[in-house]
Amino acid sequence: MQARYKEFVIRVAKESGLSEEELEKRIKQKQISLGGLVSLEGASLIVASELGIKFDAQRVKVSGLMVGMRNVDILGKITRIYPVKTYKQKDGKEGKIGSFILADDTGSVRVVLWDTMHTALLEEKRLEEGNVIFLKKADVRGTDMKELHLGGKSSIEHSDEVIENVRTSPSSASSSKISEFRDGERTSLRATIVQAFPLKFFPSCPECKKRVTESDGKYYCLVHKEVKEKFLPIINLYIDDGTASVRAIGFLDAVRKLYNLREDEVSDLRSNAVQEEELREKLLGEEFMFDGRVRKNAMMDRIEFVINSANAVDIVALIDELSKATGLE
Ligand SMILES: [Zn+2]
Repeated sequence: MQARYKEFVIRVAKESGLSEEELEKRIKQKQISLGGLVSLEGASLIVASELGIKFDAQRVKVSGLMVGMRNVDILGKITRIYPVKTYKQKDGKEGKIGSFILADDTGSVRVVLWDTMHTALLEEKRLEEGNVIFLKKADVRGTDMKELHLGGKSSIEHSDEVIENVRTSPSSASSSKISEFRDGERTSLRATIVQAFPLKFFPSCPECKKRVTESDGKYYCLVHKEVKEKFLPIINLYIDDGTASVRAIGFLDAVRKLYNLREDEVSDLRSNAVQEEELREKLLGEEFMFDGRVRKNAMMDRIEFVINSANAVDIVALIDELSKATGLE
């Protein structure tokens, strides 16, 4: 790991024109500015992207796709194929456009095919739902939702790799910096957990998941009247992407992903404060891809981030990918 980090620094130094000493100084400063809770590797990635180092021709996961990326290589499973459509090109000829949904363990994205060589693969059923494929040289476009566009330079290959847990929820198009968060925006970002507060549990209605009120040991839902209460977790964090920190709130799904636990194991934490604390302390300095919504908490007069999903960022794998992309290996 240390050797890989060193190699990464050498590569980034070369590309940025900074000396290795200067770069390492910046990386350490970045680490300190994040409260010393980010790994050197994590800090080096942040500094590299701040320096505008472009990792072209990189292999990425769906959650790592950002509008504007070009020549992206990506592995995924086809979860849905749409019929090929025809359209009139500018020159009056008939063009074809194909599309399907590609998913990996971080999310799903619509893939759009513009080349007749590629649309033929769909028409001839050489690409089918469930196939694991490797796309090369795709471009990321989109306004509301991200899309992968494949043209003549791109290629599609079948792959033997196995993808077990595909995520079918699409990832949102925007990806913004915490310092630029706007009330109401939906966004995804990579950020480090810099503070985590003890898990809280609130009684909820098993039907509608809304908070219930207690009276004489009985629980009442506004809609479903007296119910058997179910305790759901809520987590409060501060996350930091290098531009700023923001208060973040997550519910059951987020807690499961962050603590890497099953639902019943999360419930057990309610009566096991020691284990909860141990797990919580491990969160500090960990990086995740967060997806969610920015909201203004009027009462506290602050911007907050409501986590929809959280996926661990595998720094080692990421550096591996970036290294390959920049020709280190
Ligand atoms: Zn209810």
